[in-house]
Amino acid sequence: MTPDFTQSFALDYNGARRKFVAAAEALGCALSQYRHPSKTGPDGEALAIDVARLGDPKAPSQLVIISGTHGLEGLSGSAAQIGWMQSEFARALPRGVSVLFVHALNPYGFAWGTRTTENNVDLNRNFIDHDAPYPANPGYATLYTHQVPNEWTPAALAPYTEAVSAFQATHGADALFDAQARGQYEFPQGTNYGGNQREWSNLALQSIVADHLGAAERVGFIDWHTGIGDWAKSFFLCFNDEGGALHAEAVRWWGKDRIVGQRPHNVARPNYQGLVFHGLTQFLGGRPMVGAVIEFGTRGPHVRHALRLDQWLKFKAEADSERVRMLRADLHDCFVPVSSHWRGETTQQAISITQQAIEGLTTWSLAATTAA
Ligand SMILES: [Zn+2]
Repeated sequence: MTPDFTQSFALDYNGARRKFVAAAEALGCALSQYRHPSKTGPDGEALAIDVARLGDPKAPSQLVIISGTHGLEGLSGSAAQIGWMQSEFARALPRGVSVLFVHALNPYGFAWGTRTTENNVDLNRNFIDHDAPYPANPGYATLYTHQVPNEWTPAALAPYTEAVSAFQATHGADALFDAQARGQYEFPQGTNYGGNQREWSNLALQSIVADHLGAAERVGFIDWHTGIGDWAKSFFLCFNDEGGALHAEAVRWWGKDRIVGQRPHNVARPNYQGLVFHGLTQFLGGRPMVGAVIEFGTRGPHVRHALRLDQWLKFKAEADSERVRMLRADLHDCFVPVSSHWRGETTQQAISITQQAIEGLTTWSLAATTAA
């Protein structure tokens, strides 16, 4: 039976926070919060990353589940966390495994309904060495000129579409998506901007690891996202090295079909820079981590258009109008569809995928012994 989505989803950041804290308290989780030092939400509310620990903090195997890396996608990630917390599985955690829920890693973006942070940074491109020269993305620079027009009209949007078509005709669809999505460090008002310093959320995640994962000997990782894949279907981006033991472990947990050879929007996977996955791996200091960004699909390749809309609403739109509210609703629906079908289906899959990770963690050492 499909879960009741109205129990797992909320309407906004505040509502999601309340539901998350209530679900955590019902399970007897230990709660802590990492409050944003300077920013507040649209109603003046405090912004924080909420962390809930289910089970033994000294457990050798720990599953870290993150929501809201991309701000507004957090309504889905939050529901994915809460859905599992409300399932029967949460009351039957195996011995030796515990779960650390990180709710709203980018609370500013979550509360304000944008994918990026308070500095327009794509947090999932920010975990990079900011003292080293940034990786170049010349393809992005080529396309940037017309990306976010002053007016959001078909005529004003057309030149970018033409530039994209020309780029694809010359370089191919794989190179186009790589240029658009891998991350860029040159245009602070552009999409997928990785920033010029570590964001507050990046620093906070390091504190969370130090405060909560000291005892972990092995870590499972799920970072919930939306926007890649088929409607209401999960899509995995596993960043463990293909051919390595950790990648094989991810295959064992979730299945070969989901982990091997995944092609987002049916093109080659971009050479993503500065992922949370990279940051967490570094913060764990050599302890093994198996995991993935797990997306729920919405509008397929049309999502790229909504990334531009996010930037336009932030930098070019009038403060408020019927038209702006209509466009904002479209942006939100693109990343977290209002559809009860989508919300019920994704909650159900999130419960199953989370439970597979927990079962994988439970038998991880056993598998390693068998393989040796
Ligand atoms: Zn995302």
